[in-house]
Amino acid sequence: MTPRVLILGGTAEARALAQELQDARVPVVSSLAGRVARPRLPVGEVRIGGFGGPEALARWLRRHAITAVIDATHPFAERISASAARAAAAAAVPLLRLERPGWKASGGDRWHWVEDLPHAATAIRALGSARVLLTSGRQGLAAFAHDDVSWFLIRCVDPPDVALPARHEVLLDRGPYTLHGELALIDAHAIDVVVTKDSGGPLTAAKLEAARLRGLPVVVVRRPPRQDVATVRTVLEAAAWARTIVAR
Ligand code: NAP
Repeated sequence: MTPRVLILGGTAEARALAQELQDARVPVVSSLAGRVARPRLPVGEVRIGGFGGPEALARWLRRHAITAVIDATHPFAERISASAARAAAAAAVPLLRLERPGWKASGGDRWHWVEDLPHAATAIRALGSARVLLTSGRQGLAAFAHDDVSWFLIRCVDPPDVALPARHEVLLDRGPYTLHGELALIDAHAIDVVVTKDSGGPLTAAKLEAARLRGLPVVVVRRPPRQDVATVRTVLEAAAWARTIVAR
């Protein structure tokens, strides 16, 4: 079996990295969780579905001649990153984390940082907001289910499968989003607060600028703490690391 680099994906950066390594003729297999019905696929070999926990992932790494792992999963995908850290150590395979920088507030922003989605739900009430653009994704929506005061525009890629707040509309959509589109959405629904995770990156950042232009507060969920793993911020740095490992 050809030795390969495993990219744990589900992000735009993971897809860009697969392309970068394919162009550099580094053999790669990308892994997706299989959560999204119609995922955007990276170039090259792809496997889909959970591994079955860290021990199973460690066995998978050995069985598939993986020479290096790049964890390019989303900043809020905590379990797979923890699993990758344990599995890579157990299988003695080098691991790198590729994580895009978080967003930074600038002048005119009215951001309220919270620890998690339940705290975001509390923050909405504290702000007295009535019409919420909720962009935190399908997971964790249950945190808002008991709010029967506000109206929610829930934007996500696939239909939610948990209890939702009494007053809501679901908008199935997927980025990238434009400033023009975000302003139109905010205006059409008379939105008075935006809720987001600190996902970072340019593809979904337009809502932040739109909120600033409309003077709206944004409730931003902080990233969860991470394992102590070597981390780079850009695709090019991750590709350079992989090429070095493969050249050894
Ligand atoms: P998670 O909570 O960290 O992972 C849950 C389980 O899903 C993991 O334990 C693992 O199963 C499996 N899994 C996750 N990512 C995988 C991957 N790339 N390849 C194979 N198995 C994977 O992750 P999540 O928050 O549900 O996110 C799932 C995927 O969606 C991630 O790949 C992430 O990059 C992407 N994503 C997440 C978000 C977000 O807000 N969380 C946003 C955009 C994209 P086993 O334990 O069985 O191995």
